[in-house]
Amino acid sequence: MSLTKRTPYNLFLAATTIIGGCLIGWGVIFDLPRDNLPTLILLILLAVTSSYVTRSMVHHTDGSITYEVGTAIGLAAVPEWGIGGAILVVFASILTVSLLKNWADSRLIFNVSMTAISISGAGITLLFLQSQLEPLPIVQFFAPWLLSAAVFSALNTILVITIIRLDKGSSINVLELAFEDQWATLVDIAIMCVGGLILAYAIQNYDSIGVIAFCLPILLSAFAFRVYVTKMSEHMNNLESIIEERTQSLKTLVAEKDHFLTVLTHDMKAPLTTINLYSSMLMQKPEALLKKPKIARAIFESQKNLADIVENILDLEKLNVDGEIDLYLETFDLVPLIESLVDTLSAQSEQKKIEVQTDLGGLTSAISADRSKISRVFQNIFSNAIKYTPENGQVHILGFIEAGTAIVQIQDTGYGIPKEDIPFIFERFKRVNSNKDFATGTGLGLAITKALVESHGGKVTVSSVPNLGSCFSVYIPLRETETIKQMEKRSQIIKT
Ligand code: ADP
Repeated sequence: MSLTKRTPYNLFLAATTIIGGCLIGWGVIFDLPRDNLPTLILLILLAVTSSYVTRSMVHHTDGSITYEVGTAIGLAAVPEWGIGGAILVVFASILTVSLLKNWADSRLIFNVSMTAISISGAGITLLFLQSQLEPLPIVQFFAPWLLSAAVFSALNTILVITIIRLDKGSSINVLELAFEDQWATLVDIAIMCVGGLILAYAIQNYDSIGVIAFCLPILLSAFAFRVYVTKMSEHMNNLESIIEERTQSLKTLVAEKDHFLTVLTHDMKAPLTTINLYSSMLMQKPEALLKKPKIARAIFESQKNLADIVENILDLEKLNVDGEIDLYLETFDLVPLIESLVDTLSAQSEQKKIEVQTDLGGLTSAISADRSKISRVFQNIFSNAIKYTPENGQVHILGFIEAGTAIVQIQDTGYGIPKEDIPFIFERFKRVNSNKDFATGTGLGLAITKALVESHGGKVTVSSVPNLGSCFSVYIPLRETETIKQMEKRSQIIKT
């Protein structure tokens, strides 16, 4: 707002400034006893320090809470140094707060003038009541301080509300504003009344020593409180960022689940349509099976597809619930298991004219493992190799034993995986963007594969070059040890 126009706001600001300025001038020049000035200077220093220490104790979104310690010290100066002394103390304290808040504008002038008016009103009330209530010792001791603190607070509130109202217009509800911080106002009055009374008593009876003895514990505890509040707000900020992080990861999880459901419905629809189509055809014309025996195979493959999807979901659920997998261990040969899987997937590899070669002669020892889980591991990796390899490609499966570990490497000549995606492909729902269009998928297969292999004490690794192909290596320890025998025995018990 421009200060040169004659608006009610500017006139009020000017009036307040003039009255406040006159009071400061009159107080300091005519109403300030020149004796005991060192104690007054000490008091001013304390007011500045206390304003610094207690400034904006609590910060929140709408503003901050500041305790009026400076004004309590100002009021305490009244009996010894009159209105002039009080104005000097309060002026120093307000200046400190304003400078700390970078208020080097009209707000500073208004603030200083307003406080000069309020403290003058409070000081006059105090001196008047103290002289009038002489015969009643307790009332005389306490009432003037309480009333003068109330006068200070009332004058301050009236001046602040008036300037806000003139600035913001009739949209401001004056009563609401006046009682907005009623608890803070009551605390301020209490601090001014009790603090002012005790400090004035200390000054009159113990001079500078009294001032220090009174203020030091207050300043130290205010400082401790301030440190505590700062720590608390840091802690709150930390909490907020943790909550933000959690909310973000929850959102990601929900998005992943949504994506998963979409892909799942899509994936389930294709085999269901095949089953529906062929089975209704067979119901109408059972003889069609004789002409097209592939129908039976298509139905079988589709139901297998569905079973795999359901199996993946069940595995995932299981991992979600307890993170552990029950293993039913038995000793078996990997070679027939791998060959039968290659056979099962031959429909898909033949359809894409992908040549699948196996070289399993090196798998000379049987392994102790959960047969169905290991079968799912290889099924996931083989079907990926076929899914992510273009027509006329090749898949090579090599098996051998090394250092007590069965190692199976599945090498394809497919689309490959970009280097930056490799660290994430074993995470749930993770699908490589550049490969998404080549095949549908849920992004669960490799996550489950990794969990299953690791539950056997093994590991899966991958090396890949985009457009040249990928090689997945599965390591399963043979574990022909006492422990495995005990595990097998336990598995038998669980099974029965
Ligand atoms: P999906 O259901 O998508 O196949 P997976 O967890 O089995 O999920 O695989 C995760 C991602 O890793 C796949 O989406 C694919 O992008 C990539 N991927 C897996 N195997 C291969 C492979 N042999 N060649 C290229 N990319 C692969």
